[in-house]
Amino acid sequence: MRIVLIGPPGAGKGTQAAILSEELGIPHISTGDLFREHVTRRTPLGQEAKRYLDTGELVPDHVTGGMVRHRLQQSDTRRGFLLDGFPRTLTQARELAAMLDSTGAGLDAVVEFTAPEDIVMKRLLNRGRPDDTEDVIRHRQRVYERQTAPLLDHYADILLTVQAVGPIDEIAGRALRGLSGESVRNPRRAS
Ligand code: ADP
Repeated sequence: MRIVLIGPPGAGKGTQAAILSEELGIPHISTGDLFREHVTRRTPLGQEAKRYLDTGELVPDHVTGGMVRHRLQQSDTRRGFLLDGFPRTLTQARELAAMLDSTGAGLDAVVEFTAPEDIVMKRLLNRGRPDDTEDVIRHRQRVYERQTAPLLDHYADILLTVQAVGPIDEIAGRALRGLSGESVRNPRRAS
């Protein structure tokens, strides 16, 4: 399956992605993790990305798109993938569609994780990643509403919305049950 995960910062995409990746036997590709690896290894891409991560801005589309394209060319993605944190803008969604068109295989589902802002703020402040200060979190929330939330309409025909509050395995169960249902099958693939 080719799946995209969407949700505001702190909704638990990464946690759920790890479980779904295991259950579905497809690689978990997190753009946030890829960027952080580049930052740790001090690659040129990491040096460019760092200031965006630090302030909660999106890394420019051309940098992000190139990194994802490269990752999707690796052979472990042939049977599917779970994209966590990409696309985050309409431009990135179009870029992803173009990457997938060249392989002839579209997305099967977009899973949206939702959680109230006060709950996600608490989770993130507890996590304590360098970009998890209250100001930067608030900024990431605004960036999500402005730039990423419009993708929910864009993907309406394959969207599965999952309430991400409650025990972790129950949330994963909701997502897995939804993914096994007909409602999120991409009509383009059924034809
Ligand atoms: P969260 O979901 O908590 O915001 P992520 O690990 O997904 O955390 O992302 C952390 C940061 O990485 C973002 O604030 C942004 O700077 C950068 N980033 C991740 N994915 C993208 C993307 N698709 N486009 C641009 N920047 C991205």
